[in-house]
Amino acid sequence: MSSTILLSRGRVVDPRNGVDGVRDVLVRDGTIAEVSEAPLKVQDARVVDATGKLVLPGFIDLHVHLREPGEEGKETILTGCMAAVAGGFTAVVAMPNTKPVNDSVLVSEYVKAKAREARLCHVYLAGAITKGLQGEEMAEMGALVGAGCVCITDDGRPVMNAGLMRRALQYAQLFNLPVMVHEEDLTLSGKGVMNEGRASTRLGLTGIPPSAEVAMVARDMVLLEETKGRLHVAHVSCEGSVRLIREAKRRGLNVTAEATPHHFILDDEAVGAYDTHARMNPPLRTRRDIEAVREGLVDGTIDAIATDHAPHGVLEKQVEFDKAWNGVVGLETALGLTLSLVREGVMSLQRAVALLTDGPARAFGLAGGHLAAGAPADITVVEPEAEWTVDSARFFSRSRNTPFHGRRLTGRVAQTWVSGRLVFEDGQIKESR
Ligand SMILES: [Zn+2]
Repeated sequence: MSSTILLSRGRVVDPRNGVDGVRDVLVRDGTIAEVSEAPLKVQDARVVDATGKLVLPGFIDLHVHLREPGEEGKETILTGCMAAVAGGFTAVVAMPNTKPVNDSVLVSEYVKAKAREARLCHVYLAGAITKGLQGEEMAEMGALVGAGCVCITDDGRPVMNAGLMRRALQYAQLFNLPVMVHEEDLTLSGKGVMNEGRASTRLGLTGIPPSAEVAMVARDMVLLEETKGRLHVAHVSCEGSVRLIREAKRRGLNVTAEATPHHFILDDEAVGAYDTHARMNPPLRTRRDIEAVREGLVDGTIDAIATDHAPHGVLEKQVEFDKAWNGVVGLETALGLTLSLVREGVMSLQRAVALLTDGPARAFGLAGGHLAAGAPADITVVEPEAEWTVDSARFFSRSRNTPFHGRRLTGRVAQTWVSGRLVFEDGQIKESR
């Protein structure tokens, strides 16, 4: 393949650099060489006609579960990366709740080796805050950073011990590392399986009150203010959390946040007749919470859209609701669901793109997220008007657990380029080895 590529005449939307218009994008040796308003003529370039398409910085997902090592039946690093590039993501941050947990250099090195082998998208690592995610003893943060971890988190579980959380926030500053938190007070969520409210009452299911999340956000804002640390709030689901994060930002605290497509699209009525595909943690909330999350996405309170891609096998979902596992796959539906907010007039296209690119890149200090000369040539080309129906049987992910099966979406990934390599085009993975 020619190492010089010219993506010609697409509509480039690059929020960080304030670009929105028809441009030619020239890629040389895996890097953006030039973004030009005037058409470029380049010898020996492979020319890709992007007329009528969106040419966007590659999407960055701060929150995915790749399940390897330990649960390769649900997902492998390879199939997770395939799902990522099919969804337009050129970089993902892999959560540490694998088996064994990524609380060591050994596991970090294993994931990095598998990601190199997959050779599809960039895989960044999140290391555990505590050994074995047990919430008792801090993991070797310095070693994890040395092994390439870009954040630490016990995601899937909260750090209930406030003293330990405080020390983690202090210690992480030595490495300027974001501490990503799954905000849930387990004494409030208890045995709850969905949001506490009208829907849970109707279904006779035990509810999780919003306070389970909001109270922990409040605690961590107090700790953050005192330690001057760096905090990233995962999968924000409640109005109260959005309000607290907004206030904290206003007061200048170093906090970032993400929200998932399922939390800004679906409310707790989606549980319907005990649909286990609508079971996730935090649970789907109310219409009012959705509106608050959307406002947070628009006004910058929430920095990033992340999928919390959480693959599970059929058997973990084909059970009674209260026995089902939490989580949904999200990489392959995120773009269409995000663009639905643009179609509904909730936010501009520029803001939607920023939430998938510049926002996550800045939150964790990652390369990419924009298309200026010198940036990595991580590029997602989108057909904005293409309509398609979500068919979970066709996912590249090894798992099928989505509440969006059968949903009509507008906006499809045409091409995904990673470091100047075409890795996905028209529904197919181009190079997996
Ligand atoms: Zn997660």
